[in-house]
Amino acid sequence: MAEDLFKKPDGSDYGTTMAGNFIHDIIDQDLANEKYDRPVWTRFPPEPNGYLHIGHCKSICLNFGTALKYGGGCNLRYDDTNPLSEDEEFVNSIEEDVLWLGFKWDNLLYASDYFEKMYECCEQLIMQGDAYASDESSDEIREGRGTITVPGTDSRWRDRPAEESLQIFRDMRAGKYKDGEMCIRAKIDMSSPNFNMRDPVLYRVLHATHHNVGDEWCIYPMYDYAHPLEDAIEGITHSICTLEFEDHRPLYDWVLEKLKWPDPPQQIEFAKLGLANTIMSKRNIKRLVTEGLIDSWDDPRLCTIAGMRRRGYTPEALRAFCESVGVSKADNLVEYDQLEYFVREDLKDKVENRMVVLDPIKVIIENYPEGKSELCEIENAQDPDKGTRMLSFSREIYIEREDFMEVPPKKYFRLYLGNEVRLKGAYFVTCTGVDKDADGNIIAVRCTYDPETRSGTPGADSRRPKGTIHWVDAATAVDIPVRNYGYLACYSDETGRFEYNPESKTNYMAKAEPGLKDAEPGERFQFFRNGYYIVDTVLSKESEPVFNEIVGLKSSYRPK
Ligand code: ATP
Ligand code: MG
Repeated sequence: MAEDLFKKPDGSDYGTTMAGNFIHDIIDQDLANEKYDRPVWTRFPPEPNGYLHIGHCKSICLNFGTALKYGGGCNLRYDDTNPLSEDEEFVNSIEEDVLWLGFKWDNLLYASDYFEKMYECCEQLIMQGDAYASDESSDEIREGRGTITVPGTDSRWRDRPAEESLQIFRDMRAGKYKDGEMCIRAKIDMSSPNFNMRDPVLYRVLHATHHNVGDEWCIYPMYDYAHPLEDAIEGITHSICTLEFEDHRPLYDWVLEKLKWPDPPQQIEFAKLGLANTIMSKRNIKRLVTEGLIDSWDDPRLCTIAGMRRRGYTPEALRAFCESVGVSKADNLVEYDQLEYFVREDLKDKVENRMVVLDPIKVIIENYPEGKSELCEIENAQDPDKGTRMLSFSREIYIEREDFMEVPPKKYFRLYLGNEVRLKGAYFVTCTGVDKDADGNIIAVRCTYDPETRSGTPGADSRRPKGTIHWVDAATAVDIPVRNYGYLACYSDETGRFEYNPESKTNYMAKAEPGLKDAEPGERFQFFRNGYYIVDTVLSKESEPVFNEIVGLKSSYRPK
């Protein structure tokens, strides 16, 4: 497959080829059979009732990626047929998220703009005798629907004359009924093994203000009736959705068949993406916000697109991850590690190193002259083209608390009494002792340095200490707030069960090289030996950057 199919007009990469999945096999077949005389057209149809998450991200990549691959188009459509749960706030966040991921819709549409057409189609179904007005309450309808083993029973309104049903439907629209007093049901088959075909409700009465059409309507179409019409009206060819709609496909097809819609779209289902150790369901996210355990929908620990953006994940990484997950009919619960792998891969050549000590302990270099200071040259990245910067070094420095141990275990190559380590970009130092307070807590580590070992000095490397540790000069270090993150959930599964991880966030006041005070919101760095970090765009105030851990350095995930 030609790679440049996925280039944007400016030559940059969309990063999602979504190569060779079963959905594309179906499309290839349809193209070979000339099933449609219109271009391949997909849609991403979120309901604006919450923020998008990593699962939606996969659907976005799949729908937009498919349109790109086949030179067709993809609509961003708000599936806004339920006025009760929808909100303008979510509409705006969805557009921002899709654009941020690198995709541009061919049309921006609202399902609610088709309410008139949907209404007309329902009148047609009623006149044809394929739908009827029913006085039953939702409880009565549920009871009449039967069970898996027991067929449903025909509604007593099933044979209501079409003219009467039509008049009722018009009266429903005119506001003559209260919520739940009347509905329109499809006349299909009450003994169908498929529950969705047992005379499903097509329209309900609901006196509610809609975010787009206001109070224009007091009847609203049900999802299963509205969705095929939305797709058909837009000329969608392949309507890609998740597996739970497989059993709804016969109803999708029934609606369009009864309306004699020419060349109706083909619904194709794929398995939802599940991610371990996180929380995706809106209900659970809302609960954590209410309980104050997370900030909001964009908490950096969440796998909402807004949260992942704030966390510092890149669109390139998310698209590469979605591609790696693939598209299938089998449920998949993916390890978080796999997502982190792609984030790390994307960042490793993009960002510069900085020296930051998260949990500092002071080191006093006894034989380094008091009052003296010198500049050490530190590479900005592995790539020599990225240049170097000069950091000050003097008698007192900070190192990570965990880089010193009084009683070292085997294979501990960092600082302990009598051991020599390399200070990155500076000198070799040997530990000579510790200072403790009255309670026995270590307040400083004492060392001596070897002036002959300054980094870059010829021959200095002949001794090769096993450990290299990072440091910052105590005289010039700045304090920066840093937040490290663990998984949001100790446990989570496909059913939405989860256990919140109380250790999912650790706050540090780190000691950093001075330049980091000037870092701009959104700027990313690798903190040497600690991980990748971004300046938080929400919490950072002018000259007071707050850093989020994007991802640590180590991974157990290996790509196949
Ligand atoms: P949730 O309740 O988790 O927010 P949803 O299905 O209610 O999900 P919609 O706004 O209806 O959210 O979804 C928009 C599109 O995204 C749909 O086509 C849906 O199938 C798809 N989608 C939602 N969740 C996932 C997921 N986990 N994996 C892949 N696609 C998904
Ligand atoms: Mg939904």
